[in-house]
Amino acid sequence: MTSLDDLPIRDDLRGKSPYGAPQKHVPVALNVNENTHPIPDDVAHDIVARVAAAIIGLNRYPDREFTELRTALARYLGHDLVPEQLWAANGSNEVLQHVLQAFGGPGRTALGFGPTYSMYGLLSSGTGTGWIAADRDGDFELPPETAVAAIERHDPDIVLLCSPNNPTGTPLSLETIAAVADAARGVVVVDEAYQEFADPGTPSALTLLEGRPRLLVSRTMSKAFAFAGARVGYLAADPAVIDALRLVRLPYHLSALTQAAALGALAHAGEMLAMVDEIRAQRERITRELRVLGFHPYRSGANFVLFGGVADPHAVFEALLDRGILIREIGLPGCLRVTAGTEAETTAFLEAMASFAPSTPANA
Ligand SMILES: *Cc1c(COP(=O)(O)O)cnc(C)c1O
Repeated sequence: MTSLDDLPIRDDLRGKSPYGAPQKHVPVALNVNENTHPIPDDVAHDIVARVAAAIIGLNRYPDREFTELRTALARYLGHDLVPEQLWAANGSNEVLQHVLQAFGGPGRTALGFGPTYSMYGLLSSGTGTGWIAADRDGDFELPPETAVAAIERHDPDIVLLCSPNNPTGTPLSLETIAAVADAARGVVVVDEAYQEFADPGTPSALTLLEGRPRLLVSRTMSKAFAFAGARVGYLAADPAVIDALRLVRLPYHLSALTQAAALGALAHAGEMLAMVDEIRAQRERITRELRVLGFHPYRSGANFVLFGGVADPHAVFEALLDRGILIREIGLPGCLRVTAGTEAETTAFLEAMASFAPSTPANA
């Protein structure tokens, strides 16, 4: 048997582990922040019809510039964006990889504020970019002064701001984003994967794009849009940034099927996003009820909650799994993360957590 160590792989990949959130078939899967509500039937039928039509033309390469999709994404985002400012790829992970390929690479660095999205480090190493995890303040908050001090100390080529932050849920203020954009020499990516779950009235970093050609805002259809399986992420920035990403993408990277499916979903954006208010309500319920049980939920602007006060996170993770409930161990001491699911899924999780409450005799 050949092992990885026997292969002549790149030295900088030796000893690394791939992204590996467990994929298990369980009744209640609340571990990767999907929208757990299924796609509405009528929307699904329209998407099927569009994909079926696209199949007839699969002998040809797809539109390399996915112009129709970029137009639909610009319309969805609003903020007076034009198609020339939009980019898309197979998940925002691929969008971020394009950014790292174009603006990072050997001898360059990307900086984020840990704990943050684990893919930032992996995408950095995959592109030979040095990864710097700077610190946050208490309760994972990131005020402008803390962020700017790290930028000045490390002078990174790329800054990755996760807003709100995964895995902590922490919302990020526009003040911090603007201060980072002003202080940084390199490009600043604001990863708004969970923006649709923010409290109503929360401004997007899209409002800061005007006059800031090195500011990039990425989004995804994987979370609020209930389209994780289709793999569609996108980004808005200055048209010159889009030209830079074009230099590193593979030709025809977005298949005709993906483009057709995404266009179908975007044509029904209202229906696809119909459950967002309900999911936000379940997030608030998780926060409220975990606090009553004696856990320490952190502030969240996303569709998940990080909570501390867990004596043995791995034991709780395993005990929940025995009951068919999958949540996320993220390696933070005393903490676990759970996605806000349907009301029934959330109830199953909360009822199970009651037996691990710090204040109950069972755990005393
Ligand atoms: C889930 C997530 C993404 C989305 O990844 P896709 O590749 O679009 O599915 C991006 N950023 C963060 C912080 C995430 O949590």
